Amino acid sequence: MDVIEAELRRAMEEPGCPVCRLVEKFEDEEIETILYEHPNDPAVRRAFRRSGGLCRRHAWKVLRLALSNPLLGPHGVSVIYEDVLESYLRGENETEECLLCRLTAEKERILIESLADRLPNLIEAYENSPAILCRRHYGEVLREITDESLRRRFSEVQKRKLEGLRKRLEGLIKSFDYRAGRKPTEAERKAILEAVEFLAGREVGPERGRRERREKRWPLRLR
Ligand SMILES: [Zn+2]
Ligand SMILES: [Zn+2]
Repeated sequence: MDVIEAELRRAMEEPGCPVCRLVEKFEDEEIETILYEHPNDPAVRRAFRRSGGLCRRHAWKVLRLALSNPLLGPHGVSVIYEDVLESYLRGENETEECLLCRLTAEKERILIESLADRLPNLIEAYENSPAILCRRHYGEVLREITDESLRRRFSEVQKRKLEGLRKRLEGLIKSFDYRAGRKPTEAERKAILEAVEFLAGREVGPERGRRERREKRWPLRLR
């Protein structure tokens, strides 16, 4: 078993999407590395400048992590954003996508390909685990699998997991009825979180054209 297989296996031991979980871990570590070691690194500063200070989600995440970690604090992040602001005032072109979007997109691709490659070894662990790949990551792994019987088994496993999740959610709803005379079980209480995580994925990794879609839907929104 190689490192990445072990990593995937471990990520499957918990509810939720193992790929999202590993992208999140990677994203957190990348941000910490940037803030600990590289606030003065010219390449990092250039990447922040050229993306106008990262995409909206990653900019806020960097700030939140910096301010919530006493070992980091506001110094490094202030150095970085002073530089971005100065470059904006100079009129420097913002030509690059967000550094963290790019890094997490690469990591995500590697995880998807690795999971698809190792699925013959991992399918049983996945089947018996509480994990459920989110809708998007499931689709991406499925697209990489060429073996027909493995594809079938993988989609059956996923379907069984989702049917189980729907039943737990149904149980949760029933438990809200006072006539049920019972409290929801722990598994039922987690079902709503797991359903949203399956449908939407975790809030990690690359931003996916959300802004463009939103602009289209509400073109006349007030600013
Ligand atoms: Zn996912
Ligand atoms: Zn980003």
